[in-house]
Order: sequence, then structure tokens, then C-alpha cells
Amino acid sequence: MYWSNKLTKPTREQAEEAVRTLIKWAGDNPAREGLKDTPKRVVKSYEEFFDGYSSDPEEILQRTFSETEGYDEMVVLRDIRLESHCEHHMLPIIGRAHIAYIPMKRVVGISKLARVVDIYAKRMQIQEKLTAQIANSINKTLQPKGVAVVIEATHQCMSTRGVHKSGAIMQTSHMIGAFREDKRTRQEFMDLITSASRGGGDI
Ligand SMILES: [Zn+2]
Repeated sequence: MYWSNKLTKPTREQAEEAVRTLIKWAGDNPAREGLKDTPKRVVKSYEEFFDGYSSDPEEILQRTFSETEGYDEMVVLRDIRLESHCEHHMLPIIGRAHIAYIPMKRVVGISKLARVVDIYAKRMQIQEKLTAQIANSINKTLQPKGVAVVIEATHQCMSTRGVHKSGAIMQTSHMIGAFREDKRTRQEFMDLITSASRGGGDI
């Protein structure tokens, strides 16, 4: 983040100029009609792709509910659409995330869990770090008995360039507490999300 690294944010004009340079580098003329407004559009897309730098996931997870009638079973949110960009090529990572936690005393609104996925995804990422960040922030703020996060995604830097292996799905998981220590708990979660993928839904 700019503020944490003490970096100065470039101006919009500087960002657009950088895109013009890349167009020239690719071999085209940024002044021709079809490309004239492209730098503007690219910079605007970047604002959307990397929107996650301006939000704090832990702040969002602070809003919890404690009136749970003693509910202490697994809460699972599966098939959360995931759109991110790899930090090595800045190309899309598209997939889905599955999150589970076992509450201790507090629960959080499910939309907040999806929002946390978005905030971390809308930064430059590697899938391993993204998975751990989501799990760790839930663990830190909710202090549940356990947290599990599984991400399945395809990486365009692998399908459209380099080794050109389309269709390869990368799966990562991060287990904390009960999910790490208790094999049956972990299995229950994995069974739930596997039966979900058998039922369809695309990546
Ligand atoms: Zn990459």
C-alpha cells in the first residue's frame, strides 16, 4: 500500500502516459483513433481491479453478532466468485473461494466474508498468499474454533502465455485451529465443497 510503503501515488496523467508507452512498446500508435481513449479506459479498469488497497478487511470483520443461541457448528460459504490479478504478470486469476469457520461466540454476516475475499483479491496477488490472508484475517477478528479457506482458480499467465496450459486449476488451502487439528472436521468441509463442485458451476 502506498501509505504503508511511503510511496507517492502517481497522477492519473502519469498512469495514462505509462499505458501509452506500453502501446508503443507493443508496436502500435497510441494516437490513432481506436487507441486514443485506451489509456483512460485502462487506468479506469485498474481502479476497479486494484480497489482492494483502499479497504481494510479487518475493519469490515469487526462488525460481528454475538446473539447466536449458542450456535457452534460449522458455517460454510462456498463458491464465492474470485477475480484477482497475479503479481508476477498482472494477468487475471479467475476462480472461486470456499470459506468455513466454527464460531466461538461471535458470527459475522456472510456478505462480509465475501467482501473480505474481494478486498484481498483486488490487489496484486499470488494465490497462496491470498488464501492465507483471508483465513488469517477471519481468525484474528472472529477468534473462532477454526477457519478453513480453499481457493480453486485458473491463471491466465499460465493459459494465455508461457506454458499455455489452459484448463489447469490451481487449488490452495489454509487451515487453522479445528480444521488443522481434527481430520474429521477438515473432511466434513472438504466433502461439502466437493459435492458443490460436482453439482456444476464454472470457474
Ligand atoms: Zn502470473
